[in-house]
Amino acid sequence: MTELTTRASSINRALDQIGDKWCLLILQEVFWGIHSFGGILQETGISRGVLSDRLKWLQDHDCLRRRGGARHPTYHLTRKSVDLYHNALMAVVWEDRYYDTPDIQAVRLVHRNCGKAFVPRMDCSHCHQAVDGRAVRYQPGPGATRDVRDKKVRRRSSLSADAVPSERHVYRNLVNLVGDRWTANVIALALHGLHRFDEFHRELPVATNILSDRMRFLVEQGIFEQRPYQQRPLRHEYHLTDKGWDLFPWFLTLLQWGDRWCDSSGAGHPMALTHTTCERPLTGQVVCDQCGEEVRAHEVDFTIQGMSPSSAAGG
Ligand SMILES: [Zn+2]
Ligand SMILES: [Zn+2]
Repeated sequence: MTELTTRASSINRALDQIGDKWCLLILQEVFWGIHSFGGILQETGISRGVLSDRLKWLQDHDCLRRRGGARHPTYHLTRKSVDLYHNALMAVVWEDRYYDTPDIQAVRLVHRNCGKAFVPRMDCSHCHQAVDGRAVRYQPGPGATRDVRDKKVRRRSSLSADAVPSERHVYRNLVNLVGDRWTANVIALALHGLHRFDEFHRELPVATNILSDRMRFLVEQGIFEQRPYQQRPLRHEYHLTDKGWDLFPWFLTLLQWGDRWCDSSGAGHPMALTHTTCERPLTGQVVCDQCGEEVRAHEVDFTIQGMSPSSAAGG
């Protein structure tokens, strides 16, 4: 039996822990303050069996904590999953930019520190300029080894994200894109500068027909555009569109989360990022576009039409 190994990557490590479509949806509901089994069941439309399985998985990975008795347990964020707050904000920003999402348009974020309604933005912590994925250079870090990965591939669910009944399901399109292991991996590799099918295939131990299927899906979704690089036979490179590049802040928050929480080897960061705008090591921070200060969950109020104001990431 051959081992499944891929280049060590904090993005892959993070995705292997929480990147499954259902895990992302469950965490989103808990972020919105839904804590009971029945509540999550109703909001996500997941089957009971799958929900039990994913709740256990998230507890095993220290992303949810169970409270209360056996009859009416509730599920709560941990320090580790609260730290996904910036990742969730970047998902909402991307979704709002590219999709007509009334549920997001109805949400108003208010930064308590400056008292203004704001849109979160990803800045470089050194030069304080907005970070564009095209202005980043990658070098191997101290932990640039290879990871042995769980072979059990979680398949994309037959239930499309559009069918999820949750009214607060505010980043369904993003979940649909990244809630599949290979699709998310392909986008991450494209952010690192890969363009050709063979290059993706060399990095990913996946059958060519599955990879072709995912590439086609990403073209259909407007994440990649195809550019011919050879005429006979005709072959195409895959280039990220602006919509694809704009996923960079979501991936960067995930990478930084993986660096902080998913390095079981203790070897250090697998990858070192440089912001080519200022030539300093890149640390992305999510800031308020009104005052420029870093956004923290307990300093943000949000209001949704029909709901009373509350604090994000509560409980
Ligand atoms: Zn910079
Ligand atoms: Zn502010």
